[in-house]
Amino acid sequence: MTKSAYKRILLKVSGEVLAGDQSFGIEPEFLKAMAQQIADVAKKGVQIGVVIGAGNIFRGMAVAANGTDRVTADLMGMLGTVINSLALSNAITRAGVKSKVFSAVSMPSVADTFTARAAKAALEEGYVVVLAGGTGNPFFTTDTAAALKAIELDCDVLLKGTKVDGVYSEDPFKNPDAKRFDTISHEEVIARNLRVMDTAAFALARDNGLPILVYALDDKEGLAGVLEGRTRSTRVG
Ligand code: UDP
Repeated sequence: MTKSAYKRILLKVSGEVLAGDQSFGIEPEFLKAMAQQIADVAKKGVQIGVVIGAGNIFRGMAVAANGTDRVTADLMGMLGTVINSLALSNAITRAGVKSKVFSAVSMPSVADTFTARAAKAALEEGYVVVLAGGTGNPFFTTDTAAALKAIELDCDVLLKGTKVDGVYSEDPFKNPDAKRFDTISHEEVIARNLRVMDTAAFALARDNGLPILVYALDDKEGLAGVLEGRTRSTRVG
């Protein structure tokens, strides 16, 4: 049985996490480690949706800066998330847990097309659902997709793994005296101008009362530690 305080979670994973020590692509060991962490939690009965970015493959804004029009560049970014999602979902399956990809960009021969109804049904059946294609729209990020899908799928919490173990008053790498918060309200994050997620993502979370847990990705207790309260994290909301 689960010791997690949460029954259904949405995990946002940045594309860079899969690249590991490389600057591009997918590093098999990092893919396996991430999949294992997810599978370990799923085996305890927690329902898990995962949104993965594409920073390890393609970021629309960076490419648009070189002349490709932004809408095309963002479509390419969304396709990058599909590549990562297929890799992660397959690795989760290899770690012993059923997993399925749902894509916000319709491509029926590659993945099921996302509907909240179908994704919720898969969660209830014990699948880890990997949500590809971001929001399906250009000019958004996978942070926004993660907040949106968490709300659509009635998740109890959105988890965001970062380089640090929570939300700080300033960048702790730049100012070692920065104050760390154990908990903080959505309003205070805005009032203090702290960047937990991008503005659109954060606004969605705030307006819909979605709590966010920010934790350090390199914590050895992993995802299970965060959910079971053994790992330091900041709870927003
Ligand atoms: N993207 C998009 N709409 C979305 C989500 C993503 O157009 O709803 C594109 C956008 O070009 C973005 C890229 O996909 O730069 C990869 O997503 P993101 O930058 O969020 O990846 P991460 O930084 O999390 O790896």
